[in-house]
Amino acid sequence: MSNPTKEIRVQPIENGTVIDHIKAGQALNVLKILGISGISNGVVSVLINAPGEFGNKDVVKIEGRELRIDEADRISLIAPSATINIIRDFDVLEKKKVEIPAHVAGVVKCINSNCISNSNEPVTSKFEVMNLESGIELRCDYCERVISENIAEHLL
Ligand SMILES: [Zn+2]
Repeated sequence: MSNPTKEIRVQPIENGTVIDHIKAGQALNVLKILGISGISNGVVSVLINAPGEFGNKDVVKIEGRELRIDEADRISLIAPSATINIIRDFDVLEKKKVEIPAHVAGVVKCINSNCISNSNEPVTSKFEVMNLESGIELRCDYCERVISENIAEHLL
């Protein structure tokens, strides 16, 4: 573990999305949210543990794909400081911070196995999103259980 920085193809992209300022260590979870698992149509570059202005960060570049709102919402839960840059013709067309939604539905599985959202009833999981100094916390609308750690592991 002498050099934790792992770099796979970091050339500029022509069209697509660059997700920057991802909390270090969360890049693979971002790929999971995007449904990218190694093999995909677009070209994906991942920069892990890159030095950034405010400590180390991960960066994900996706060629030929612009993020949907619901994808950006999911990413905000695990990388609240991430910025999303939409690239067209090698230029940054749009740069924005992810917006942390006040509520998410159908995004995260409740950690309470007795929660109605985990039963056989057709109930969509719903959480209130709390953006605290310590990080993102999710409170289940049904059972009020709070998820404050490893949110990525509970993503649906
Ligand atoms: Zn619940």
